[in-house]
Amino acid sequence: MNKDYRMTKQRRIILETLKSVKTHPTAEELFEMLKRLIPRISLATVYRNLNILIEQGLISVIILKGMPRRFDGDLSSHYHIKCSNCGIIEDVHLDINNEQLTELKTVNDFTIHGYKIEFEGICSICLKQQ
Ligand SMILES: [Zn+2]
Ligand SMILES: [Zn+2]
Repeated sequence: MNKDYRMTKQRRIILETLKSVKTHPTAEELFEMLKRLIPRISLATVYRNLNILIEQGLISVIILKGMPRRFDGDLSSHYHIKCSNCGIIEDVHLDINNEQLTELKTVNDFTIHGYKIEFEGICSICLKQQ
């Protein structure tokens, strides 16, 4: 899989827009932001370019149970926390020292490539409204 995508102007704007926010938008939310910058862009174009950017390793995708895929332009190592009430996703910059997980090489006859930690809780705004 060595597709040589040239970075189109549209894709660069999509990438820059995603990198400029910390909200981990869905494709639809990104589409709303992009319409102001590229009036003729379509949702299908946004989806297609997001998939290419994922393939190129320039963005990451957040997949949480029961939620649409969200996109993250921040490739630095960080975790996410989701509010179980309003669904907001924020970055968590924590240095979690979990040697046991890091050193695991196999489990159930699988060779492990990595693991994911996602936090869930209730955000301060939702907490105040309760
Ligand atoms: Zn909340
Ligand atoms: Zn993030």
